[in-house]
Amino acid sequence: MKISVIGAGYVGLVSAAGLAHFGHSVICIDTDIERVALVNRGKSPLREAGLDDLLSRCVLSEGSLKASTEYDGVLDTDITLICVGTPSNSDGSIDLGYVREAAKSIGGVLKAKDGYHLVVTRSTVIPGTTMDVVIPLLEKYSGKKVGEDIGVAFNPEFLQEGKAVQAFFNPDRIIIGELDSKAGDILVELYKDMSAPIVRTDVTTAEMIKYASNAFLATKISFINEIANICHRLGVDVYDIVNGLSFDYRIGDRFLNAGIGFGGSCLPKDLRSLVHASSTRLGYPALLLRAVLDVNDAQALKIVEITERKLGNLDGKKVAVLGLAFKPNTDDVREAPALRIIRELLAKGALVAAYDPQATENARAALPAGVRYSDSAAEAIADSDCVLIVTEWDEFSDENLYRGKTVIDGRRALDPRKACALCDYQGVCW
Ligand code: NAD
Repeated sequence: MKISVIGAGYVGLVSAAGLAHFGHSVICIDTDIERVALVNRGKSPLREAGLDDLLSRCVLSEGSLKASTEYDGVLDTDITLICVGTPSNSDGSIDLGYVREAAKSIGGVLKAKDGYHLVVTRSTVIPGTTMDVVIPLLEKYSGKKVGEDIGVAFNPEFLQEGKAVQAFFNPDRIIIGELDSKAGDILVELYKDMSAPIVRTDVTTAEMIKYASNAFLATKISFINEIANICHRLGVDVYDIVNGLSFDYRIGDRFLNAGIGFGGSCLPKDLRSLVHASSTRLGYPALLLRAVLDVNDAQALKIVEITERKLGNLDGKKVAVLGLAFKPNTDDVREAPALRIIRELLAKGALVAAYDPQATENARAALPAGVRYSDSAAEAIADSDCVLIVTEWDEFSDENLYRGKTVIDGRRALDPRKACALCDYQGVCW
């Protein structure tokens, strides 16, 4: 098939490269000129394991993928996947600006198209968006009728940053929200090389499945942090509790990592936009999901409270922060707990030395001046009064790095028994 993908971010570029690898002819369209130029040189603008290899093969060797800043390329394709960002507005509601722009531009190009074209939203959008926003814009700008000349579907992406390529090729399930069976059948054909179960449903249900999935994952994290905060006061280790829980097949052991909470480009903003839409448009206050956000908001700053308890007034104290990315194996710092923690430390007058194996440049752009960025964990730790482990990169898990230091572990990166023998160790909620 001939496919156009709008947006060359985590979802768009990984989908584009993955589909090109399956033998489709793909054009990836992005407004970011530098991103497009990099992709056309077979290089990934994102640090994702395996993506550079995949791009160099598809772009340079096989010629099955190219990138462009122009929407004209949509005309020569059968399917368009919308994969642009859907950030939060300041009131927590979803910002659909990029999705609107993409739908308008696609509609404008489809005006000149002869024959059927399928438009698939893959961005995470609040339930109702495809029906109420995407379809009216496609019809308005193309002058054509959705359901006749244009097919529409919603097909959420569930990839995890850090293993996005692997997740694309090995999905747990494929959700197809279809306006009609013609649209759904094309997507079933598109994914025929994947062995995952396919769930076919209507568009709005598929949009809600994506939100429910992220809301559930976020709830698991805040749940275990709530339990951890209680356990901590009881003198009980929450990781022993998780071990005990994990043998119950209804519970399992995934997404039960107590610590400083979730960040990233998806869970916080998706939860906020679901709570916002539910309480403002649907008249339901979503109390549990609000509490999930509240627990998460408080959790990150617990590491600063403990630092203050250990060191007293933080003014002039040297604090090493290990980890800036919101999770290991990515350079993405969007809503990373490290950013809030560092801003709070700076506000209290601490002298911050930060280190991350991949995310330093992105963090530098997001943080105020005054942070010293180190070239290694050892350098950041060297003359610090206290070390905070904020992201659980593998290289931070060697207890010997911390000999004689005061360490506050926000991610259970260290084995507490080993660490306690070598340093003044404290977990954030254990
Ligand atoms: P991203 O910010 O990494 O990439 C978005 C890209 O879209 C950018 O390169 C931007 O330049 C481009 N863009 C914006 N407006 C455009 C336009 N009008 N035309 C062409 N290109 C345009 O975003 P992402 O992380 O890939 O997320 C995309 C969507 O997928 C979001 O809705 C997100 O919630 C969802 N999602 C993300 C992940 C993830 O782990 N990142 C996982 C599942 C779903």
